[in-house]
Amino acid sequence: MDLTGKTVLITGSSRGIGAAIALAFAQKGANIALNSRHALAPAQVAAIQAYGVDCVGIVGDVTQDAAQIIDQVLAHFGHLDVLVNNAGITADKLLIRMQPADFAQTIQTNLVGTFNMIQYSLKPLFKQRSGCIINLASVVALTGNIGQANYAASKAGIIGLTKSVAREAALRQVRCNALAPGMITTAMTQDLSTKVKTQIETEIPLKRFGTPEEVAQAAIFLAENDYMTGQTIAIDGGMTMY
Ligand code: NDP
Repeated sequence: MDLTGKTVLITGSSRGIGAAIALAFAQKGANIALNSRHALAPAQVAAIQAYGVDCVGIVGDVTQDAAQIIDQVLAHFGHLDVLVNNAGITADKLLIRMQPADFAQTIQTNLVGTFNMIQYSLKPLFKQRSGCIINLASVVALTGNIGQANYAASKAGIIGLTKSVAREAALRQVRCNALAPGMITTAMTQDLSTKVKTQIETEIPLKRFGTPEEVAQAAIFLAENDYMTGQTIAIDGGMTMY
């Protein structure tokens, strides 16, 4: 896919990995719809527009506003070409202390939110017989993690969802893939103590956390490569190579 002039919607793109993905697509000449539950910063919109592309910030919660978010993208740009389901949360706790609400809220945002966005975008994508969906999973979907039963379950669900969407949408030339980042330096991982961070780094073959930009490079690859669907790519410094 030549990304010039294409419309890319990235959920949860006010910061971190989503913001880096938005910038990377803008650098490729794509028009950008940012999204988060809170108003997008004018400075972020301006930084994207500086690449000579159009950019709008759409406020909405993927758990309940998916239809409105997609409608706003179509009303502004006329079409949608790439949907990046990046909005996600953690609510870490050991399983023995995890409340049903901790479990449900994480599944609701990460998995049901992704389902909502895909469901409302499929009609326009099917109609134009082209499109690309990229879902943010995680390495913990593949490995599990202490304190993250809810998060790991939500991300493992995303991988199953990705493969099923890929099978259903392939006949109409719509592709669906997932990214499985390892430890990436963002707000989501900033609360780790230096001790824990150092311990994690010793266990990563490349001995460091990744950057949001390194995840964004993989998103661009998945969007541009027309022959990839149903895949999950790990960007994890080698964490899952064994
Ligand atoms: P951040 O916490 O930095 O950013 C999350 C983004 O999602 C924010 O823009 C937030 O904005 C938005 N968001 C949260 N809930 C909703 C919602 N219900 N509707 C719309 N937007 C929402 O996370 P990261 O950048 O670190 O992570 C991005 C994605 O990558 C997530 O899916 C995460 O699970 C995944 N990932 C991250 C890893 C890491 O190490 N950082 C590793 C593996 C996967 P607002 O609060 O204003 O809504």
